[in-house]
This record gives sequence, C-alpha cells and structure tokens, in this order.
Amino acid sequence: PARTRFAPSPTGYLHLGSLRTALFNYLLAKHTGGQFLLRIEDTDQKRTVPDAEERLLRDLRWAGLQWDEGPEVGGPYGPYKQSERSQLYKDHAQKLLDLGHGYRCFCTPERLHQLAESRHALGLATDYDRACAGISREESDGRASRGEKHVVRLRVPDEYLEYDDLVYGTFKPLKQGPRADQAFEDPILLKSDGLPTYHLANVVDDHHMHITHVIRGSEWMPSTPKHIAMYAAFGWEPPAFAHVGLLVDEQGNKLSKRNFDTDISAFKEMEIFPEALTNFAALLGWSHKAHSDVMDLQNLVETFMLKFTKGNTTVTFGKLYFLQRKHAALRAEAAGSGLEEMVQATVRLLQALNSPYQEWEPLLAKRKIGVEDYIRQIIQSDASNYTNANEFLRRNAFMFKPLRNPSSFTEREGIPSESKRLSEIPEPDWNKKAIKEKVWQIIEAGDDSRNQPKQVFYYLRTALTGTEEGMRIYDVMVILGRRECLRRLGAEVG
Ligand code: GLU
Repeated sequence: PARTRFAPSPTGYLHLGSLRTALFNYLLAKHTGGQFLLRIEDTDQKRTVPDAEERLLRDLRWAGLQWDEGPEVGGPYGPYKQSERSQLYKDHAQKLLDLGHGYRCFCTPERLHQLAESRHALGLATDYDRACAGISREESDGRASRGEKHVVRLRVPDEYLEYDDLVYGTFKPLKQGPRADQAFEDPILLKSDGLPTYHLANVVDDHHMHITHVIRGSEWMPSTPKHIAMYAAFGWEPPAFAHVGLLVDEQGNKLSKRNFDTDISAFKEMEIFPEALTNFAALLGWSHKAHSDVMDLQNLVETFMLKFTKGNTTVTFGKLYFLQRKHAALRAEAAGSGLEEMVQATVRLLQALNSPYQEWEPLLAKRKIGVEDYIRQIIQSDASNYTNANEFLRRNAFMFKPLRNPSSFTEREGIPSESKRLSEIPEPDWNKKAIKEKVWQIIEAGDDSRNQPKQVFYYLRTALTGTEEGMRIYDVMVILGRRECLRRLGAEVG
C-alpha cells in the first residue's frame, strides 16, 4: 500500500494543475489500499494568502479528495501543518551540522546580493560561492553562540547519486550542463529566523510521515537531487518520485489565469460537476486501459496505474464539456442526488429569470405538475446535452415559454392539417405509445410524395419547438402535454 501526500503551500488557491497533482496522489493511495495525506506547507509566511488554507480544504473536499490524515482529521504523525513543527526542523538542521552535511552561512543579504550582481555581470551562474563552507566547526559554533545572524545550508555532494524517476527515468545532474548552477548550489535549509525552507521541511516530513511515493509537478525536478542527497545524509530511504509535466494551452503556453488555470471555484461557478472535473484532470497526462474515458472517482481508483506521459500536457477544454455532458447523463440515469442538484440549479435559475418563463407556471399548475417535476422530466430526456442550468434552459427554452412564431411550414404536402389529427388522442391516453401510433398513421396516410417520415417529423419539430434540434420529439410532446402541443399545431384542443 502506498502512502502519498498532497503538500500545498497556502500561497494560492487550488487550481487545475494542483488538483491534478492531488488527484494522482489520491488515486495511487486508494488504488493500493493505502493512505492519502494532506500537509500544509506554510513555511513561506510572507507569501501566505489569508484564506488559502481554508479554501484548499474546501475545494479538495468538493472534488471528493478526502484525506486520511491531515488538517481537521488528524492522524498519528501530526501536526500536519509545517508552521507547527518548527522544532523538528531545527533539530534536523542541527543533525546535518553535526554530520558535516550542513554548514552555517554568515553571509549578509547585502553580500549575497552583490555577489549575484557581479557574477551576473561576468556572465557567470549566480549561485552561492560557498564562502562559508570552509569555516571550522569551532569558529562556526563560536560565532553562532555570540548571536551572529546566520542560515544553515546543505553541503551538496560533488557528485550526485543516480535516481530513478518513475516518469522521466534515470536522472543525475552533472557539474557541466544547463542546470549545473542550480543543482550544485548549496541551498538554504534553515533561515536566519530559525524557520525551515521548503527543502528541509519537505524532506523531514516525507520521512517522518512515512511517505512512499511523491507525485508532483516537473517544476520540482531540479530540487529532487538535493532532496535525495538529504535523505542520504540522514541515512534515510527516499520515497519514489514521479514528476508530471506542466499543463499548457493549445499554443504551448503555461496555463495562466487568462486561460483557465484559475482556482477551482471558477469551475464550480460554471456548475461543472466535481466528478466531471476530476475525470478531466485525471486524463491530463495519464494513460489508462479502460474502454472509455468517462470515469467517476471510484472508476478512476480502480483503473489507476502509475503511467504518465513525459513532457507537458495540452489542455483542451472541449473535452471538459464532453465529460460534463457524459456525467450529466449518468446522473440522470442514477436518478439520485446528482440529478436533484441539476433540477434545483435549473429551478433557481428559472425563478431568477423574468417572464416569459414565469407565464409557464400557471399552465403547469393547471396540469397539476410541479415545476420541479416538469424540469426533471426534461433533464432526464435531454441530460446528454446538459452542461449547466443556463445553457440547458436556453437550449430548451421552447419548453418554458409560449412559441410566439410557430412553424412557418405552409400547407404544402398537407402535413400541417393532417398533424392536427393528434387531437384524436384523448387527454388520458396522451402518452408516448399512443402518440407514436398516431404519428405513423399520419405518415402512412400519405403517399410516396407526401407525408414522408422525414417531412412529418421535421414539421412536428419546427411547429412544436421552433427549432431544428433538441430532445426527442416524442418526449417533447409527452412533457409539453396535449393542450400545449395541439395549440402549437393549431388544432382544436377539444
Ligand atoms: N509545497 C510544495 C508546493 O506547493 C510541494 C511540492 C512537493 O510536492 O514536494 O507545490
């Protein structure tokens, strides 16, 4: 069983990319019967957004990604918030000092700034020059005990161990190469205020929380060799790492606020279902062997395997709407709370809209049908076209307001007058079977040149709906009711 974690920093909200990361970790844990942890990495207090943590929890829960250990639920290795674990990090920084894998750096911010500037001017990499790496332990201890301001840095090895990324394969930074400066810089582990940086807190926590697999964005890949070096320094077994590529738009640009990498609440506002969004996020760079792309969270758990595509993943939002409609159809079929949510959203919108929609209520009252029942029937018939209440109402507007300009079909072919024969069906018998029979009688009464099925159906559709598309015509007739149908066909209501 895998123990995985999602470790967001509360410097922003949950967005599509981070939801995907959380989801992959969740799926791996659940697929293997393990645990999914949530850890709040709030070491960068300056960048903390006040309501970010609260919203992260809320949005994860909305998406269905309930954690087994973490904030609000607790667990055996808590606290699960890094700001409450400072002592642990201090102790481990001390341990690295004692082992010689860490050293105190007394360089002032001014010196570091000047160093970076002058190296930059010379066209050199701007990494730290290790000025303090050679300070003896005695001198270092003395200066520290006299209260001299310092940080603790990791002494990165001259040669890194190879490690096997589950997505990118064998990885080993070399001293020469494009990333050499980053990979071989001695990172700060403990800041001068005694608080840890991401590197230290992340490694110490993953170890103490017994994390077996880390799935995270490829932007963390350059940090991983340093993390592995720290595990080695502590004498710990590192977890397995799987880095997943970035999300990009169709032009290859990193997703930004402008193109939807906005926080998850934007999808909520668009009434995207959580199961459609998790389905969508799961397919971003993950390949599966299931027969269909349409999967709810439970299906995803069952199907999940660690098989990600290398490189960036292009996000196409058409797919999101495709999945949304598929899940809408599944909700309608299940006829449970998911369907009721759609009904309620549509009712609320309908009530917020002004007439002519409201003219409809008295007509339904006359038929002794509640608005909710009426809407539910329409949704059940047309769910595979449902994306949200607003679009749904627009698409089915003819079900909610009188048709002011019924079909422009003329008497040619005799279809309009013959269609009036639908009035021969008495009110109590107005059901799909009877309607179907009558429609076929009308078709068959014609000869080869007139009242062809295609023409009759086309006439009925345009006369009854004022459009050329929409839900199945028999459903339109049943749900609309006899009176309104006959009225739209210009027949005696009787
Ligand atoms: N706190 C880091 C973040 O916000 C976690 C990275 C990791 O998973 O190691 O992305």
